[in-house]
Amino acid sequence: MGQAIGTTIYDFEEEDRQVSSDEIQVLARVLPTLSYTDDTHMTIGVAESLIACKGFDGSHMVQRFIANYDNEPWRGYAPGPPNIFELIKQGRPWNKAAADIYPDGSFGNGAAMRVSPLGLFFWDNHARLIQAVYHASRITHHHPLGVEGAILEAITVALAVEESPASSFDVRLFISNLLGYTTKDVYRTKIASMEPLLACPDDKTRIVEELGHGVEAFNSVPAAIFSFLSNHRNFISTVTYAISLGGDTDTIASMAGAISGAYLGIDAIPGDWIEQVENRDYILRLANKLWQVSIKS
Ligand SMILES: [Mg+2]
Repeated sequence: MGQAIGTTIYDFEEEDRQVSSDEIQVLARVLPTLSYTDDTHMTIGVAESLIACKGFDGSHMVQRFIANYDNEPWRGYAPGPPNIFELIKQGRPWNKAAADIYPDGSFGNGAAMRVSPLGLFFWDNHARLIQAVYHASRITHHHPLGVEGAILEAITVALAVEESPASSFDVRLFISNLLGYTTKDVYRTKIASMEPLLACPDDKTRIVEELGHGVEAFNSVPAAIFSFLSNHRNFISTVTYAISLGGDTDTIASMAGAISGAYLGIDAIPGDWIEQVENRDYILRLANKLWQVSIKS
């Protein structure tokens, strides 16, 4: 939902300043439509493919990405995905094209930003989830740090589904569970630093210094997870906190909102935000279908 205020978020991004949660909520109220950016656009593609295939199919998923991009190329895509899509259109296999264009791979957050439907679909089977995320990431991001960021985001969504908002939330245990899914030092260090940082969430300069807020997966997935952990009782606070960190606001808020939604459920999302969001009916139908295929799989 954070991405739902995408147009405004880009203004924040250009100014590179931190804004308050109150400012964001005021803007959300006055904007007639809450539009979304590439994060949600690609997340929709992942959900569409999971629903159509009743599971992960890389060649189908990339065709959804391509069709969606061709329909709406103005969603704020980075240059990488369209270049990869072009190569696939010319016949290059979906799992080879990214490495042809970027031999070293990208550790941007483009794989992590779209991965939440996989976390919802495979929430009860982490081994299958990690395998699916690995392959889904490599459509565009095959650098190990880009893939690990996507795995962490998806696992966080899956762990959030398992937690009951009616019970007490053991943040320390949640962080310790997450650490079990990290293999790279940069993620381990940042996730391990979250528990002490929970004592000072309002010191946003320090939060950004330690966790980052940039377009790299390791500088945005930890910020999204922390936005959720430090505001886990409240969807609005999670999303507005993520945006208030500045930097790659649409992506960090999108990932934080996905975790919060997985934990709290749709009733935690303000009715007026749902009412104003672009393509609301389609997204709601998609969410329902994803839930239906998930429980049957
Ligand atoms: Mg972004």
